[in-house]
Amino acid sequence: MILIVGGAGYIGSHVNKALNEAGYETVILDNLSYGHKEAVKWGEFCECDLSNIDDVDEMFNKYDINAVMHFSSFIDVGESVTNPEKYYNNNVVNTMNLLHVMLDHDVKKFIFSSTCATYGVPQSIPLTEAHPQSPINPYGRTKLMVEQILKDYDEAYGLKSIILRYFNASGADESGIIGESHNPETHLIPLILDAAIGKRDDIKIYGTDYDTPDGTCIRDYIHVTDLASAHIKALEYLTENNTSNNFNLGNGHGFSVREVIDSVKNVTGREFKVSEIERRPGDPAVLIGSSKKAEDLLGWIPEYGDIDDIIRTAWTWHQELNKE
Ligand code: UDP
Repeated sequence: MILIVGGAGYIGSHVNKALNEAGYETVILDNLSYGHKEAVKWGEFCECDLSNIDDVDEMFNKYDINAVMHFSSFIDVGESVTNPEKYYNNNVVNTMNLLHVMLDHDVKKFIFSSTCATYGVPQSIPLTEAHPQSPINPYGRTKLMVEQILKDYDEAYGLKSIILRYFNASGADESGIIGESHNPETHLIPLILDAAIGKRDDIKIYGTDYDTPDGTCIRDYIHVTDLASAHIKALEYLTENNTSNNFNLGNGHGFSVREVIDSVKNVTGREFKVSEIERRPGDPAVLIGSSKKAEDLLGWIPEYGDIDDIIRTAWTWHQELNKE
């Protein structure tokens, strides 16, 4: 059985679906602080908090767990600057609790959601796994710390891990029954869709004077269904090779904020107001990843390279989410 920690969240719920479709049995651990019970449509569900080691231990007694995928971390970069304790506690301390219980139960396969934010300001584009890791905010540092812990735990305890560094997770499952829903929402695509659906007066572009062709930031938007398939490939790799490794997961193409807005207008057929405001602190001009290593070693082939496809699936879900 595969344990999905944070399986009621955006990426975890998509991976849960993919695992079940691939024939795996899953158990989902989530404290529902940010996750949604309705997103757990497959597998067994345990409402449990990683800060409570006894509860986590009980879960490991109850289920025959052979690998763990860990998605439950806080992700708001700005909040991590103003309230770092919240981030170090959850993203680092709680992860250590989970690893502690795993080792107690001799479970030694771990797949970890990391981020391109561990690289910090890019020295070269596209970012490869060999790029130096020098995060510029507490959020990125919490993820890098766990990466370092995992390296030490492999050497000392033989705990094998696959670290997956996501670029900008986006889109929704084609079915329209699960998707992205954060509260508060800070991510570009759901915010634009809010403007398109009339829930927001406008979309604000953070900075139009970057050194990019249209002056707005460029990001690598990777579809959540592609992230999900990469997790299955990572699990297979870990099972076959019993060796730790790390991989970038991006689609290799960058889209500017303006291109994403144009795609939303094109896909939804809706008009909305676009405001241009000052830069958001800490945003690099361009973040694009190379996922060649994942393609070569995992045999992973992302399917959603086109921004309109990403927006189309996100829009279907967004309409479902905002139904009266
Ligand atoms: N962005 C924006 N307006 C918004 C939200 C985001 O212009 O209301 C920009 C942001 O500056 C960045 C890109 O959109 O360049 C993606 O931001 P997001 O917060 O979705 O993801 P991040 O790249 O920060 O992980």
